[in-house]
Amino acid sequence: MSTAQHSKSPPLESKSPFELRVNLGRDVPESDVRTALATGDMGFLHSFTTGSTVDGPGVRVVAWTTGCQFRCLYCHNPDTWTLTNGVPVTIDRAIEQLSKYRRGLKVMSGGLTISGGEPLMQDRFVSKLLKAAHGMGIHTALDTNGSLGDRLSDEDLKQIDLFLLDVKSYDPDIHRRVTGSEVEPVLQFARRIASKRKPIWVRFVLVPGYTDDYTNIDGVASFAASLGNVVRVDILPFHQMGRFKWKELKLNYILNNVAPPSSSAVESACSQFRAHGLKAF
Ligand code: SF4
Repeated sequence: MSTAQHSKSPPLESKSPFELRVNLGRDVPESDVRTALATGDMGFLHSFTTGSTVDGPGVRVVAWTTGCQFRCLYCHNPDTWTLTNGVPVTIDRAIEQLSKYRRGLKVMSGGLTISGGEPLMQDRFVSKLLKAAHGMGIHTALDTNGSLGDRLSDEDLKQIDLFLLDVKSYDPDIHRRVTGSEVEPVLQFARRIASKRKPIWVRFVLVPGYTDDYTNIDGVASFAASLGNVVRVDILPFHQMGRFKWKELKLNYILNNVAPPSSSAVESACSQFRAHGLKAF
């Protein structure tokens, strides 16, 4: 990328991933996008946010990537689906930005979490950023829907200290209905991480009428427990904070009238996971 493009780029840091960002990379020629994806020398980021205490241990910097192949009905960041909605950023600029947080992250026992979108849509860029973070002594976490895990080599896996694995459903039909994609690649990737003895935090979004079926939750819990490397499970109650993005993007949002789950429904889901010997919150 030219210096001129670099200096004109929007700020990489945003207050929140809920900030709507569109078309920030639309001027990048298609051939450059292809090269970027192949080499990882350039990536597309919604933003960096700082101060997260829920995306891994300690206080985290989160790099939000753009591009996702799932179409979750409840997605609260649909602007991240499109790669070129993100800010085009060279890997050098991303590493430079990360290095600014290095000292603070050490003090707060935190680290870098790469989330999205689906980070592995940009697997080469993500791999380079994780490797650079490790080189700076920064703890690394990858928040992924898991379905593109095959793109990571065993060497890539070594650069990741923690996986935040989003398991949308255990039931293949529910998974397809909720995400538009198959569940099996997700489960395969989870088993692969388990075979490497890498820690996983499972994330499960509880959506009334969609993922809250007792058998479905029990399937996720039983699978998670069978892996042997799941450190904790976070039940994420469905919310409506992303609704405005669907409207702005003129997308068909079918969960318009779905209310967040009650606290007793969340507690009941937690209990199902705990019954399988897992720590659930
Ligand atoms: S995987 Fe995440 S970013 Fe992709 S559609 Fe689902 S919720 Fe949205």
